[in-house]
Amino acid sequence: IKGQYGKHFAAYDDNLRRGLLRRQAITDVMEDALAEGQFEIYLQPKYSIRDEKLAGAEALVRWNHPEWGMQSPAEFIPLFEQNGFITKLDQFVWNRACACLREWDDKGYPPISISVNVSRADIYQADITDLLAKTVKRYGLSPERLHLEITESAYTENPEQLIQTVGDLRDLGFVVEMDDFGSGYSSLNMISKMPIDVLKLDMKFIQNETAKRLKGGILRFIIDLARWMKLSVVAEGVETREQLERLREIGCDYVQGYYFARPSPCGEFEQMLQRWQWR
Ligand code: C2E
Ligand code: CA
Ligand code: CA
Ligand code: CA
Repeated sequence: IKGQYGKHFAAYDDNLRRGLLRRQAITDVMEDALAEGQFEIYLQPKYSIRDEKLAGAEALVRWNHPEWGMQSPAEFIPLFEQNGFITKLDQFVWNRACACLREWDDKGYPPISISVNVSRADIYQADITDLLAKTVKRYGLSPERLHLEITESAYTENPEQLIQTVGDLRDLGFVVEMDDFGSGYSSLNMISKMPIDVLKLDMKFIQNETAKRLKGGILRFIIDLARWMKLSVVAEGVETREQLERLREIGCDYVQGYYFARPSPCGEFEQMLQRWQWR
């Protein structure tokens, strides 16, 4: 038995060490990776359920490392949030999103908005409102073209400060979305005080709901609540026709998911924009 324990610990140590080495390897190369253009943004379209039209897109970062290949944001984003690199990377993403909007405005396409992710590490920085205001200004865009997705869990860290910051951002004209809503951190009390514009439902939530519960249960309640608070509702992770129809029935406003399109490079998204229609 003693030998067995020893083995388990050895395996545990091994995994731990591999994880640490991997994190160190990523940390060692991240700055160069950004400078060398290994990061780019992909865009995933968002549609209005009511008129079945393209309504905007979410910018999602992609890292294509020359040797390691495509890296998953689910792995490197949490690490970059810990080591602070996320603030630099997010600024790159925001600039790229604005550059796309500028280019497409100049080409005369319909003026969509792009949602960008704003990490908890970004939103608590003292100069965040200034920084975002300067970013859109640099590209001659009005702030409402950039929607700011702030993940639900970030709101609970320091609600008072966030109420202030989100209020300032909205006064400037930015649209603020609460991302991953329903993943379990916020209270109704906090939601009602937070001056946001949009609830973006957590994906697991949509995918775990059986068709029946989706129709009558908690999701319908949330959408009614959102309506009462004058917030619009986005559902992401929509993968099936059935999910879409249920969401339509209960009054969801916007949908995003593999059912319509996967995130794609800006060039491919531009072709969608040229067609400017459902699917
Ligand atoms: P998120 O903000 O909740 O983004 C949605 C994720 O769901 C994306 O994963 C997207 O590709 C994926 N997705 C979209 N439609 C579907 C669907 O129908 N089914 C399923 N199963 N998944 C779908 P991705 O791109 O891997 O990003 C993962 C997370 O990493 C994001 O979750 C976000 O928290 C973070 N992230 C990604 N890009 C950025 C960024 O530029 N900045 C920051 N701060 N975080 C980012
Ligand atoms: Ca998001
Ligand atoms: Ca989300
Ligand atoms: Ca998330």
